[in-house]
Amino acid sequence: MSLLSVVIPSYNEEEMLPRAAQVLSELLKKENIPYELIFVDDGSKDASWQKILDANREDANVHGIHFSRNFGKEAAIFAGLAAAKGDCAAVMDCDLQHPPATLTKMYRLWEQGYEVIEGVKRSRGRESGSHRAATGLFYRIMSKAIGIDMSRASDFKLLDRRAVDSLLDMPEHSAFFRAMSFWIGFKQIQVEYDVMEREAGESKWSTRSLIRYAFNNIAGYSTLPLQLVTGAGVVVFLLAVILGIQTLARYFSGHAVEGFTTVILLILMIGSIIMISLGITGYYIARIYEEVKRRPRYIISRTV
Ligand code: UDP
Ligand code: MG
Repeated sequence: MSLLSVVIPSYNEEEMLPRAAQVLSELLKKENIPYELIFVDDGSKDASWQKILDANREDANVHGIHFSRNFGKEAAIFAGLAAAKGDCAAVMDCDLQHPPATLTKMYRLWEQGYEVIEGVKRSRGRESGSHRAATGLFYRIMSKAIGIDMSRASDFKLLDRRAVDSLLDMPEHSAFFRAMSFWIGFKQIQVEYDVMEREAGESKWSTRSLIRYAFNNIAGYSTLPLQLVTGAGVVVFLLAVILGIQTLARYFSGHAVEGFTTVILLILMIGSIIMISLGITGYYIARIYEEVKRRPRYIISRTV
């Protein structure tokens, strides 16, 4: 029998954590799947780490990694994968929104030889209207920019050891698990699941953090914004040619003094396009700066 590692990023999940540990270990024991649960405490401010220690005392298959501060879910996923000893490793949320029953389904598919088993959402569960609109827009832009359909993608996945190793070999600082696990290839298959309600605690995503996340990942996976800058430049250039010809024609035909409004509008328009373009270019430079610093993705302060 082959060992399944389950990586569970957890941030302020004191309420859900013991339940997740219990549900998962009961299920995997029942299904006769050898397992280890790796809870990655992403610098929680509540008693999550204490709950992980408790769970570890009850079940030796429960391991824990504690970050020195909150590094984000992506970092937590990669820390968990790096610690996983299994022949395959699954990633799932601590809030049990990813149905544990689907996990066993994924494991069976892995046994049949699939190497990357991706959970896709059949439905999105209950979300507020504005949040749904924000995530919808986010995924549409992302899908365009990255060239992968992200609208139903999630971090709920099961990866073969080989896939895990190739993910861990990627050195980039700003990792994006969903896109990377697609990008590596291997024998992939999708499994549909229904998103469960979060039973306790609250979602850690504000609309603001979603927007930041979207910018990060679009810049990380596409140079489309830079091409848009070039596009804007071309459009302005065409306008310049047309207006230029018109201005010259007027000058030579002898009535050229008017047009103060045009001058103001042009200065404003060109000024803002230049500023936005500088901003976009600057954003990419900032990313390069982040990457060349070679900082670690996360810092582990304790393990159990
Ligand atoms: N999470 C994390 N670090 C963070 C934010 C979230 O490890 O900075 C974890 C969180 O504990 C949960 C998972 O990521 O296990 C998904 O978070 P959440 O349920 O808040 O997101 P949603 O389900 O609303 O997309
Ligand atoms: Mg959730």
